[in-house]
Amino acid sequence: MTEKTKIVAGKLVVPNYPVIPFIEGDGIGKDISSPSQRVIDAAVTKAYGDTKKITWKEVLAGEKAYHETGSYLPDETIEAFKEYLIGIKGPLQTPVGGGIRSLNVALRQTLDLYVCVRPVRWFKGVPSPIRYPSMVDMHIFRENTEDIYAGIEYMMGEDETKKFRDFLVNEMGVDKIRFPESSSFGVKPISKDGSERLTKAAIEYAIDRQLPSVTIVHKGNIMKFTEGAFKNWSYDLAENEFAEQTFTWRQYEALKEDKGELDANKALEAAKKAGKVIVKDSITDAFLQESLLHPWDHSVIATMNLNGDYVSDQLAAMVGGIGISPGANINYQSGYAIFEATHGTAPNIAGTGKANPGSLILSAVMMLEYMGWNDAAEHVYDAMEHVFAKRKVTSDLHAQMEGATLLTTSEFADAIIRNMH
Ligand code: NAD
Repeated sequence: MTEKTKIVAGKLVVPNYPVIPFIEGDGIGKDISSPSQRVIDAAVTKAYGDTKKITWKEVLAGEKAYHETGSYLPDETIEAFKEYLIGIKGPLQTPVGGGIRSLNVALRQTLDLYVCVRPVRWFKGVPSPIRYPSMVDMHIFRENTEDIYAGIEYMMGEDETKKFRDFLVNEMGVDKIRFPESSSFGVKPISKDGSERLTKAAIEYAIDRQLPSVTIVHKGNIMKFTEGAFKNWSYDLAENEFAEQTFTWRQYEALKEDKGELDANKALEAAKKAGKVIVKDSITDAFLQESLLHPWDHSVIATMNLNGDYVSDQLAAMVGGIGISPGANINYQSGYAIFEATHGTAPNIAGTGKANPGSLILSAVMMLEYMGWNDAAEHVYDAMEHVFAKRKVTSDLHAQMEGATLLTTSEFADAIIRNMH
């Protein structure tokens, strides 16, 4: 009865009985994986009876893979993600010693999963360090393949580093390296293609979900040809490819210059009224402040790899931390998508029943949304809201909530299932 998910004419086609490969994960991965699947299965049944059902197919990675096959990331695992397009994973320990630097990075690179999506929303009752957590509804689109994270680095003193430095100094005439003899170097590639595909995905997401804005987050004031170019390419893309659906801050500024503030404001209001997505930009440091002080001003956030890393953790902390922050790595062109818990393997609590399965559950909910199974996704959101409102939580949140009831990993999953109405 099972069938394969496909991309047909650029659109994802999900069968009613898809196979979903999953990596259990190391450490608390073992604790959270099956409770999360129980929650998702219950929500799918609640929403669709037996007309839709996921078949979970375990694929190996990490410690378990190493013990069973001698490889941390067997080829069969990559093949399964390619074959079935959509998969999910628990956290993986970074292998100690040589070989693969990071299994997560290897998966992202092999499948060219160029967007890391992190939705950030608050559940009533969850402790938050900010004043208006209920006003947080942000969706981070972090570029996953470029930037200073591309791994092009040269260590001080090594031969190739000297070669690189000499090229910069002698061939390129660079005279701005403060300590040339004792410098290490990193290269920051930011491409037009990479910027455009990221921003396109962010704008389409905002349009699909009728979200009000996309904020381009960058340090283009300093790094003009990389981060500044990212900003300009993103604005160009919005104005050229989404002329009907967006209004950009750059268009606003041009109008202000040309016709005055009154007309520019009128155009902005008209665009908002017409339901257009407002595409604006913000310098990263200002954005980190802004998002704390006025979270309601930002909806979808499009940014590069390093900025995205910082932004993701700050926003996650604003709504309850990594135990309940979901994520996904997606290639919107090929359809490949791996949904994942954003936290690590938490070896300090593995096997104790203390792990919060929320991050993996919410990642699986993102997966349901990606599949178009929105009714099932809504069941989980609603039920989780009820459980948090009743102050029933796992140990990570229990310590911060007065009068809360402490649940184990499995009990928390059961509570969600019981609260699906
Ligand atoms: P970690 O996220 O595993 O733990 C940090 C802290 O958060 C710990 O105190 C832990 O107990 C707590 N925590 C994490 N997840 C939790 C949950 N679901 N419920 C309750 N508490 C939770 O980070 P770390 O200790 O820096 O990393 C441990 C290992 O995980 C390393 O090998 C690292 O490379 C790996 N890691 C993997 C991923 C991934 O697979 N996506 C991400 C981060 C780290």
